[in-house]
Amino acid sequence: MAFGSSWKSVVCKASTGYQRVAILVPFRNRHEHLPILFRHLVPVLQRQRLQFAFYVIEQRGTEPFNRAMLFNVGYKEAMKDLDWDCLVFHDVDHLLENDRNYYGCTDMPRHFAVKLNKYSYMLPYNEFFGGVSGLTVEQFKKINGFPNAFWGWGGEDDDLWNRVRLANYTVSRPHGEQGRYMSIPHHHRGEVQFLGRYTLLRHSKERQSLDGLNNLNYSPLVSRRPLYTNVSVILNRNLAPIADY
Ligand code: BGC
Repeated sequence: MAFGSSWKSVVCKASTGYQRVAILVPFRNRHEHLPILFRHLVPVLQRQRLQFAFYVIEQRGTEPFNRAMLFNVGYKEAMKDLDWDCLVFHDVDHLLENDRNYYGCTDMPRHFAVKLNKYSYMLPYNEFFGGVSGLTVEQFKKINGFPNAFWGWGGEDDDLWNRVRLANYTVSRPHGEQGRYMSIPHHHRGEVQFLGRYTLLRHSKERQSLDGLNNLNYSPLVSRRPLYTNVSVILNRNLAPIADY
């Protein structure tokens, strides 16, 4: 394989139809979480007979965390390695509890993290699309990826939901207890809430074609690690146009 840190089942694709899944993990200052995530998830994905690789997209610099733009960067970098079938957008502190929660993609965008321990294992609201979600490459391109304009905590997953619905997709979810997750406990390290999210969310429709994969601009530092590819970026607010909303 041309790039390191990817796992492939020994059975051949023709006989199993296994999917090639890039798992994108946005990251800043959570070094202690990575080995826990890998140790937990790798055996599950191997049992699910997926071909997969992890991309950790690390935001450097002092701007507020931009989870959505990091996913867009991860997508662009991952596609340079392989023609992936499926993209899984995965928070670093989320651990699935049920290994029947299959990390492949379906004909509709998927929300995997349905029942979180931090929300008493209940969906907080019907449109919740946070934690862990997955789209095929085709679906992701069709919705123009994630928005780049959400700086700080909150709203970017709601905008993804809007994008998916505006493209006439419906979101599928694992049934029953399969969608259970626990989160790794940690001290919140002062991530700022993005207060502008409500205004942007009111304009999801107009913004979808203006902000996303098509206006992404970044310079990555890519390094191959034993278990994952690290993509380090400084995100610059001025690179993505600030919408007039
Ligand atoms: C935020 C989302 C977040 C959700 C659950 C919403 O208010 O906009 O980004 O995932 O709360 O915490």
